[in-house]
Amino acid sequence: MPSGRVHEAINLSVLGLGSAAYLAMKESVGVEDPVALAFAASYCIGTFLITPDLDLAEQGVRAKGRWGLLGWLWVPYGLMFSHRGLSHTWLVGPLTRLAYLALLGTALFWAGDGLLRYLGVSLNLQGRIAVPPQEILWAAAIGYYASQWLHLVADGMWPDFPRRPRRLRR
Ligand SMILES: [Zn+2]
Repeated sequence: MPSGRVHEAINLSVLGLGSAAYLAMKESVGVEDPVALAFAASYCIGTFLITPDLDLAEQGVRAKGRWGLLGWLWVPYGLMFSHRGLSHTWLVGPLTRLAYLALLGTALFWAGDGLLRYLGVSLNLQGRIAVPPQEILWAAAIGYYASQWLHLVADGMWPDFPRRPRRLRR
């Protein structure tokens, strides 16, 4: 099974080919640059930072290392999900990582907000968080999923095939 490095190389090669095709046929595909960029950025995040193999974050994995000092934040995720289990499914798997990040972000936000309140500092974020246009959000979602699915395909996992127990692999 591919190592983290091989997964990254496969994902980047496909992104390179896709980008070349996009640039060559840009006029006819009718996708605007910001949308294509949102796709590519999200795809890269899914390739380097938020990968299915974070289910091994209790050990050392490449994606965890890329988070630097924040890598330990993924350890509970690694402990919660068995390797190549739910984390490596096609629809729910990628969502588990987003939900985990959202929970973590919310917890950190509340903790930070509580601390600031305690210190008497008020943080008024009302109206300061702008939601990107819908096509940007869709492109980002598709980019993220594409990166995750490519990982699963490289792992030999297809949506319709029943998963068989395998040796511990990345
Ligand atoms: Zn994997």
